[in-house]
Amino acid sequence: MQVLDGKALAQAIKEELKEEVDAIRQAAGKIPHLAAVLIGENPASQVYVRNKVSSCEEVGFRSSLIRRPESITQSELLAIVTELNEDPDVDGFIVQLPLPKHIDEDAVNLAIDPRKDVDGFTPVNIGRMTLGLDAYLPATPNGIMVMLERYGIETSGKEVVVLGRSNIVGTPMTVLLSRKSSPGNATVTLCHSRTRDLKSHTLRADIIVAAIGIPEMVTADMVKEGAVIIDVGINRVDDASRNRGYRLAGDADYAGLKHKVSAMTPVPGGVGPMTVVSLLMNTLQASKRRG
Ligand code: NAD
Repeated sequence: MQVLDGKALAQAIKEELKEEVDAIRQAAGKIPHLAAVLIGENPASQVYVRNKVSSCEEVGFRSSLIRRPESITQSELLAIVTELNEDPDVDGFIVQLPLPKHIDEDAVNLAIDPRKDVDGFTPVNIGRMTLGLDAYLPATPNGIMVMLERYGIETSGKEVVVLGRSNIVGTPMTVLLSRKSSPGNATVTLCHSRTRDLKSHTLRADIIVAAIGIPEMVTADMVKEGAVIIDVGINRVDDASRNRGYRLAGDADYAGLKHKVSAMTPVPGGVGPMTVVSLLMNTLQASKRRG
């Protein structure tokens, strides 16, 4: 089985980005600047944002972290979004999800200027992506597309089953994989919590993209010999043998699948680092556009 090593691939792409930023610096051009908004103390969100900020530093971008407590009101958060929209110094920004329950995530998303939406979550970017126009592509699905391309995994004419219909992963993944491009041109089935007889779908799949959030749900009996597994899930599973009291598990049963499939992403070190790199690529694009 080929391990689709997102960590190594992300590192290689970061080197390329760094070279580009060095060239911009030498030409006295504008250094890309990403801002991240982190609300509350969600431990996983803190890790994700820390990774995003430190990755910016690694490639020579500027980064800003705006932290606010869980108690922030919706109007206070919307005011921060407006400020970032208007700040000429900021090329792109993200508001880390999930937000506290009293805040309407849709309202926050709708307030983000699409030109600075480097997460690719706003209606303008989702719409442009769907029409095949130039857009900031959602970071995780785009990271997966880059991974498929760089690893030379053929998608044209293949049966792809996407598990999960979230706006940030599953649904845009189906759009990107089915459109007329490379990678793309796949026949895509989207499965979700109401899908009947999930196994009948997954057993047909040449490629499975699992974005469900249930640890190790995709097992060897559900997958055909030689399939490719892209595991998006990041789940904390209690593990008393670890110092921190948990381990990270994907949505696929890596140990059970590794003798049956032809290629698979590990968790951690698979899709996660590709998501971060995709965000950096969008930020560089935003910075170039702003000139
Ligand atoms: P979500 O958590 O919003 O929704 C889960 C989806 O799974 C829903 O669409 C639901 O219909 C589907 N689902 C639930 N039970 C199912 C079942 N039995 N069979 C088929 N489908 C089922 O989705 P999300 O935000 O895309 O997150 C999914 C996972 O991916 C989580 O573990 C999350 O932490 C992880 N994630 C990872 C990255 C990354 O960069 N690696 C990025 C985003 C999300």
